[in-house]
Amino acid sequence: MPRIIPSKKRPLSRYLKDYKHSQTHCSQCGKVLDRMALVFRGKIISKETIARMDKSIDEQVWLNVQSELTALCRFCSEIAYNSAPSYFDIMAFKQYLFEQTEMNHSTIREYVVRLRRLDEMLVAHNYPAEQFADGISHQRIIDDVPYAAHANYRIALRKYDQYLAWQKSY
Ligand SMILES: [Zn+2]
Repeated sequence: MPRIIPSKKRPLSRYLKDYKHSQTHCSQCGKVLDRMALVFRGKIISKETIARMDKSIDEQVWLNVQSELTALCRFCSEIAYNSAPSYFDIMAFKQYLFEQTEMNHSTIREYVVRLRRLDEMLVAHNYPAEQFADGISHQRIIDDVPYAAHANYRIALRKYDQYLAWQKSY
């Protein structure tokens, strides 16, 4: 009778830790990872959660789990998971800047941070969402919310316009 060799089992947490250490770049922006977030099925899993995942699994099960894992840098995970519903599609804007422009990371970061700040400002002003429904007029925002007229926000809004135009043509 042929002997079936049972495949070696290890705790899931062990696999996850190894996986974490093997990831070198953010899966969204390509940045070299220093601190990172591990995302499983659309949720960030914390160190503490990983530590509690002590179920023993074999290589085959691990391969399935692994196919649903992604590693994100702090910036991308923050944009993806800590953004309140908002006026701008900041996540898509960020990906646009990374994928369709030649800007470097720190410039992209700056644009995203500005747009996010402006977004928070609009939320604080209870800015009517209808203004955004069809064809958003950035001049209108600047007229309505004087603080948005600051050069930093104007530039970010202009970039966002470029993103919207690109999205339309796509
Ligand atoms: Zn990233």
